[in-house]
Amino acid sequence: MTVSSPLPPAAARDAAALPQRLVGLRSLAHNLAWSWNREVRQLFREIDESLWHRLRHNPIRLLQQVAPARLAALAEDPRFCAWYDEAMQWLARETDGAHTWYSRTYPELRGQTVAYFCAEFGVHDSVPIYSGGLGVLAGDHLKTASDLGVPLVAVGILYRNGYFDQRVRLDGWQEDSDARIDFSAVPVDPVPGTNGAPHLVTVRTFGRDIHIRAWRMQVGRVPVYLLDSDLDSNHPADRPLLSKLYSGGPAMRLRQEWLLGVGGVRVLRALGIAPAAWHANEGHAAFMMLERVRERCAAGVDFEEAVAQVRSESIFTTHTPVPAGHDHFPVAEVRACTEGAWKELGVPVDRVLRLGYQPEAGEETFHMTALSMRLSRRINGVSRRHGIVAREMSRSLWPGRPAERVPLGHVTNGVHLATWMANPIMALLDEHLGPAWGHAHDPALWEQVLTLDDRELWETHGKLKGILMRLIREEARRAFGRRDLEAAQLVGAGPLLDSHVLTIGFARRFATYKRADLVFRDVERLRRIVTNADRPVQLVFAGKAHPADTPGKQVLQRVYEFTRDPAFEGRVAFVEDYGMHLAHLLVQGVDLWLNLPRVPLEASGTSGMKAALNGVPQLSTIDGWWEEGFEGNNGWAIPPEVDGDDGVLTADRLYALLEEEVVPRYYDRDAHGLPRQWLAMMKHAIRVAGQQFTARRMLEQYARAYYAPAILGDNLPDDPPSA
Ligand SMILES: *Cc1c(COP(=O)(O)O)cnc(C)c1O
Repeated sequence: MTVSSPLPPAAARDAAALPQRLVGLRSLAHNLAWSWNREVRQLFREIDESLWHRLRHNPIRLLQQVAPARLAALAEDPRFCAWYDEAMQWLARETDGAHTWYSRTYPELRGQTVAYFCAEFGVHDSVPIYSGGLGVLAGDHLKTASDLGVPLVAVGILYRNGYFDQRVRLDGWQEDSDARIDFSAVPVDPVPGTNGAPHLVTVRTFGRDIHIRAWRMQVGRVPVYLLDSDLDSNHPADRPLLSKLYSGGPAMRLRQEWLLGVGGVRVLRALGIAPAAWHANEGHAAFMMLERVRERCAAGVDFEEAVAQVRSESIFTTHTPVPAGHDHFPVAEVRACTEGAWKELGVPVDRVLRLGYQPEAGEETFHMTALSMRLSRRINGVSRRHGIVAREMSRSLWPGRPAERVPLGHVTNGVHLATWMANPIMALLDEHLGPAWGHAHDPALWEQVLTLDDRELWETHGKLKGILMRLIREEARRAFGRRDLEAAQLVGAGPLLDSHVLTIGFARRFATYKRADLVFRDVERLRRIVTNADRPVQLVFAGKAHPADTPGKQVLQRVYEFTRDPAFEGRVAFVEDYGMHLAHLLVQGVDLWLNLPRVPLEASGTSGMKAALNGVPQLSTIDGWWEEGFEGNNGWAIPPEVDGDDGVLTADRLYALLEEEVVPRYYDRDAHGLPRQWLAMMKHAIRVAGQQFTARRMLEQYARAYYAPAILGDNLPDDPPSA
């Protein structure tokens, strides 16, 4: 047997080091459900608080590094042991599916699993296999499925080199380094192959067999199988195919997607899992549908019939409102990639390749979205507005159809409340709404947020803001100490930020359409707003540009330059290495969330929902979720008609809003020092997000309108795209 890397699971060792009384801590650390359970997080923090923070909340590392004497003492501490016992009982409940929303709502669907495929999953910062919104959304989807008992089985890729760590040079240019997975500190366990082989399945492509290993990661009740091709038995050129997320150009992407789709289905089969419905989150995973067509053809089913069968049990969610953003490959490449799978079945390969035909893209292009739409009966966009855009974009697949009649719906994204809402805000709601508020999707309950006590809410927010400011200062100090940061960069890292100043957060991928630099359109006007002596404003930026996105890196560089501009008096900061950890602190700790996407390019946008759940109102162009979420009292909006191509009018409107509404309202304090009008807006932000933009609402919609009908069938006629 060959094992290609030094990774016997850390499991045995961790457990060996634990006192017998607390041996279950290992199981707690190895199920990511700990990350959204307040009591279990506190349990880990209690073990060694400073170590916990230093290790960025990684319980596996914590158990490896904590002093054995400390664990021994805790094993003798009745209070800790009682707490631990409760956590263990919770874990046992958490892993059985007996009393969940899903089992109550759909008793007849017991035992019917739903496969969920995605190219990236953002579950926790310690598992760097996500790049941004899509992955974090997929992670929130899994967590919520676990909470509700939706029987999901997820499939993704274990990128050994992670996404990337970001460092910004003195001149503002982003440098990328691998965020390598440290197998001893990540909750993944290898799934053994047959007869002790490390690989579980084999996928043939471009004339070679590739062995695929699977790793299992547990997200509450939901298992996630992560694929990996880095095995000695593979050709050296194939070993790194799955090692890096979104890199290596189209040839590598095609191979990755083929391995994800085909390998993913085969892994589930090898494990004896037989999903009743299959959900592809974005087109990267669409080959899983083609593999299922192939399976049927191999069993003797006619090709067209096999397509119809696969359609009836498939669900496809599209996320990208720009045609160029959809994955597509040269037909000749796809032919070489897939041919081996079809030739022996006697199905003409041209008939197969036609499934990826998209009229606008032409005959020579294989389009993953077209493939997904031909092989999925149920298709959706991710906000009401994106649904409209996606129907318009997909019209050519249903020729002669008005856009309204394209069979593509929408499920607006939502965020996982227990992941994104700060503990102190949750504690506030515990007191005011009663203990049941988190356990149901009940819009009426959220109205009561409006009666929260102003002072308590303001103090809670102030505490969260203080945590963010302290982290920024500490990071700057440490980086400077390590000499990662030169003196000239120090101010731009934010040590001069002031907790009493209105703080605006802007954090997201540096894709050009998100226009991070738009706020600097009129530098002098912005400078006056920022450095106003009575009512100053500060801006905190964070985000990564895709390593291959030179224009995105240029935008980042431009923003970075302003952080060092003395005219802004240290009130503009850029914080490096945006990921889920930093995202938490930012959405919980700033005063206002800013979002300026070029309309209609933001399909949904979810960071503003996270901010809103924490009482942080949003100021945004009306795009994505904000078209549904903006109610006039929960933030500010820039209407789309203002949004010209160059953004001048949008910037203008932004400055006017800041000068005339945002800044005055923030600094308008009553005799007790409370900004009453601002606080009202904070409450409405929480109310609207809680009522409409949680992942719970989203999952219930997927279950009712997509999963259950896909499993149970319906009487509606099928309405596939043209051939
Ligand atoms: C939520 C989140 C995103 C998505 O934010 P957008 O609003 O869609 O830009 C990206 N990255 C991280 C780390 C997130 O937590």
